Amino acid sequence: MLKGKTALVTGSTSGIGLGVAKALARQGADVVLNGFGDVEGPKAEIAALGVQVAYHGADMSKPAEIEGMMKFAAGQFGRGRVDILVNNAGIQHVARIEDFPTERWDAIIAINLTSAFHATRLALPAMRAANWGRIINVASTHGLVASAEKSAYVASKHGVIGLTKVTALENATTGVTCNAICPGWVLTPLVQKQVDAKAAALKISNEEAKKLLLGEKEPSMQFTTPEELGELAVFFCSPAGNNVRGVAWNMDGGWVAQ
Ligand code: NAD
Repeated sequence: MLKGKTALVTGSTSGIGLGVAKALARQGADVVLNGFGDVEGPKAEIAALGVQVAYHGADMSKPAEIEGMMKFAAGQFGRGRVDILVNNAGIQHVARIEDFPTERWDAIIAINLTSAFHATRLALPAMRAANWGRIINVASTHGLVASAEKSAYVASKHGVIGLTKVTALENATTGVTCNAICPGWVLTPLVQKQVDAKAAALKISNEEAKKLLLGEKEPSMQFTTPEELGELAVFFCSPAGNNVRGVAWNMDGGWVAQ
């Protein structure tokens, strides 16, 4: 379904981004990966799906590096554009507002929100010229509701959903759509840190900490998986998604239904 398309997924060396990149690759999209840590492993996993794969190590808190990544991605497979942009890179920090380190606030807003603005503004002209494009923003249930001690994260994710709606509206008469995915708990390195912190603070096992985390928020008592989220991204890219514009779709075990 996505053969001949170039997909750029930010923050795709682990977790949800890698899951989405693999789902798009399974549909035939060539993929540009981004993110820190191990690069060769994720590259090999994508290549094994029979598509072309490239990597750019832009730090998503740095607009000049985002510009470099967008040029690189557009030029990689000879198409001169990114067809599918998944703004996924994100970080978390947990502290009460009065204790929140100001540099952590700045980093979270830059990586979770401002980077999506930069990548989107740079991807749009070529998408519009081709009259086809998909921009998928990985927001969160925290783009729809709040939790204590996550001020920067909740603010950034509410901002991402606002940006999603504006992007969708500004392109509503074109073949370019923009939508947000709002996962509940997904057991990635980002959430494992919170499980570890809970286990240490309460002197309980990792398994007990996971159950506590789920029990606070998710009626299903199950983690959503990167694979499930990847299939939602595939749906947004499918012809059935042509007129899905500006939605914030939660996949969250019932978290925000409560
Ligand atoms: P993760 O830590 O596994 O992955 C984050 C990715 O972003 C990694 O590839 C990392 O290298 C990359 N990254 C971090 N800082 C970066 C930077 N400055 N520049 C470039 N890349 C950078 O986390 P994840 O859980 O897969 O998170 C992915 C997205 O999903 C984030 O936006 C997160 O907010 C969102 N999300 C996660 C959950 C969850 O439960 N895990 C729930 C809702 C939303």
